[in-house]
Amino acid sequence: MGDHFQPRDRFASGAQFIGGRVRSGTSGRTHTVVNPATGEDVLGYELAGPDDVDDAVAAAHAAFPGWAGATPGERSDALHRFAGILADRAGEFAYAESLQCGKPIKLSTEFDVPGSVDNAAFFAGAARRLEGVSAAEYSGDHTSYVRREPIGVVGSIAPWNYPLQMAAWKILPAIAAGNTIVLKPAENTPLTSLMFAQAAQRAGLPDGVVNIVCGSGPDAGEHLVGHPDVVMTSFTGSTRVGKRVAQLATATVKRLHLELGGKAPFVVFDDADLTAAVHGAVAGSLINAGQDCTAATRAYVQRPLYDDFVSGVAELMGTVRLGDPFDDATDLGPLISYAHRDRVAALVDRARGHARIVTGGEAPGGDWKNGAYYRPTLITDAAQDSEIVQSEIFGPVLVVLPFDSDDEGIALANDTPYGLAASAWSRDVYRTGRATREIRAGCVWINDHIPIISEMPHGGYKASGFGKDMSAYSFEEYTQVKHVMYDNTAVAAKDWHRTVFGDRHRP
Ligand code: NAD
Repeated sequence: MGDHFQPRDRFASGAQFIGGRVRSGTSGRTHTVVNPATGEDVLGYELAGPDDVDDAVAAAHAAFPGWAGATPGERSDALHRFAGILADRAGEFAYAESLQCGKPIKLSTEFDVPGSVDNAAFFAGAARRLEGVSAAEYSGDHTSYVRREPIGVVGSIAPWNYPLQMAAWKILPAIAAGNTIVLKPAENTPLTSLMFAQAAQRAGLPDGVVNIVCGSGPDAGEHLVGHPDVVMTSFTGSTRVGKRVAQLATATVKRLHLELGGKAPFVVFDDADLTAAVHGAVAGSLINAGQDCTAATRAYVQRPLYDDFVSGVAELMGTVRLGDPFDDATDLGPLISYAHRDRVAALVDRARGHARIVTGGEAPGGDWKNGAYYRPTLITDAAQDSEIVQSEIFGPVLVVLPFDSDDEGIALANDTPYGLAASAWSRDVYRTGRATREIRAGCVWINDHIPIISEMPHGGYKASGFGKDMSAYSFEEYTQVKHVMYDNTAVAAKDWHRTVFGDRHRP
């Protein structure tokens, strides 16, 4: 089915989904989605501008009272139907995701799509489970309880690396909790977010509950963040843009959720299973061509294992097959664009003089020279404070450095501004226990790196941001709690009135 999917036919009338209708943007500026494996045009469309954002927010605002007033059971039913439709159309979603991102079809098929289906099923369940403190007479004279209410119109902004999963992570908890949403995907990856919204409509979600505006960041994105009728901004993207979004959001006192960049450390202690660590490092650094905010980027390896780890990673990287994303045998696709590939190449080039490029460090020629490909790259002998160790590369590049004491390994792991994810590799429960306590990151894996799961939160520490995607924690962030307090005494002069009247007016 996926092979017959034609974005130009599906989105002939435009690449905006507003108030339940696919339509064109009105910014007067166009954008072309390009297949980064071949350079071929996939879809040209008119970008959304401020007027389109206003229309989308108005549609979400109009839909809010009805959707917020639906029972949790009704919202849950709609999300279960939604999960079923996503599963039925899995092939089409996987194809579109690989087409616009260049990611291997086995990654889209085995990770992106099933993860999104599972998220929909998870939030269908979460919708029926509102948590809070039990109602009780905490003051003695009153009954207190908590209402958990939706907030209103949420404005979300997503990056290009996992467009389908980002749409799922932003839209599902928001609507499960009774909010309505306007999502702005990245300009170069609009397809699966639009298809996601269409699937929501097919599942019976009322028009206006889910809206997609495909526009540029400075234009449509900033207008969405600054919009007075949007009560919450949930942003996933770079730390640089996240800071700008935070500044804009404060002007209208919005609730803010920032999922930002990462530079995940991968700490290998000297009692680790070397084979497992080598496989974990190669898979964890090359997944999605390294364009993963939690990708393993800095491996710190205790001195006794260091040489074998470096040679093992270099050898295994050499077996990774670059290729056509639609070939099941392909392990590594292109990067998202030629511009991004050039940025990654420039970062590696700047490291050349003061670090060792063990393998990779170049774009391949031959069959792959027309795509935005970059070879798996292993770098050693870099200084801890160098750009290649401190900055997010977002490409298939792993830096490996040695350490001596456990203290040093953990200190190095914590020594960047980021704190999104990390892993520690050891057979010693006390060492791994210490790593889980002392590494400052939103997720610490032990003897693995990358897996995520709908039930568990994903989000950062430090410059990686705050707030959570997935899990009940994310669901709660899209709600607000109201304390309701009933007087149980039925007396006019309450005890606490003494603080105002003294002993006057006592009954
Ligand atoms: P980016 O920050 O350039 O763009 C992200 C989104 O913000 C895009 O939709 C873009 O159009 C929009 N945008 C750009 N400028 C804007 C502005 N001034 N106002 C409002 N919106 C604006 O990031 P990217 O290059 O698309 O994605 C890669 C980044 O995303 C990496 O830093 C990566 O670590 C991060 N990321 C983080 C997570 C996480 O969960 N923490 C997940 C995926 C990606």
